[in-house]
Amino acid sequence: MIIATQYEEVTQIKMNRYAEFNPSYSVCAYLVDGLLIDSGQAHTAEELTDFLKDKEIRTVVNTHYHEDHISANALLKERYGAELLAHPLAIDKINKPATLYPYQEEVWGYPIPSQVKAIGDSVTTQHFRFEVIPTPGHCDDHICLFERRQGWLFSGDLFFGTRPNVARPEENQWQIVASLRKVRDLMPRALFPAARGARVITGPVPVLEETIRYLEDLGQRVTELNDKGLSPDEIRKQIFGDEPPLAEFTQQQFSSLNLVKSYLK
Ligand SMILES: [Zn+2]
Repeated sequence: MIIATQYEEVTQIKMNRYAEFNPSYSVCAYLVDGLLIDSGQAHTAEELTDFLKDKEIRTVVNTHYHEDHISANALLKERYGAELLAHPLAIDKINKPATLYPYQEEVWGYPIPSQVKAIGDSVTTQHFRFEVIPTPGHCDDHICLFERRQGWLFSGDLFFGTRPNVARPEENQWQIVASLRKVRDLMPRALFPAARGARVITGPVPVLEETIRYLEDLGQRVTELNDKGLSPDEIRKQIFGDEPPLAEFTQQQFSSLNLVKSYLK
């Protein structure tokens, strides 16, 4: 299922395998001036490709290699000849078959491998210029796109709300804080996230600052407890209590323990 919403010249394309929109199971792509930012999950790849048939798609940029951001790449290249671009570190991962956990297979599905090329410093469309902002932390190959004149920031999975309580094993929270600072300093006018709830945020600077403060305070608490000799699991119990249901559903791929550990790398 797809829901399209217009924000200025940007179309938000919210995708979900199921008719009921559980925010945890949905992801967004954005279409602007022939550029598609992310291509969603395998379960909606056909539907997205059909949705785009009367629009001119010249380029697809993947914000990172995760399976819910890349899975219509191959179809879009085959049907519309779209050029596929991603961070150099993402290329090998997108070009090879993915290995997924059962929850990923259920919610997102297996992407068809696709031949992406290394993105440069910017992507230019007919009317806009999108600067490529390396923003590691969620994973090494994460990028945001920033259209400076419009103040549009396409943030991929950098921003997951102001008070994250879970993380993936590969995340590094201190890198995420640095990346959030970097995009905050761009003073964006609107933030277009890919992640779950995916609400477009206008005037996002205070929200970014709140998130940076929360993650820094959390990091300080984790570090202090670690210095006192507590194990990551003891720190998790003291700060967060029990794991949220998401942890069990995702085979601990999204957990509070991962969030604690992500400060101690
Ligand atoms: Zn991701």
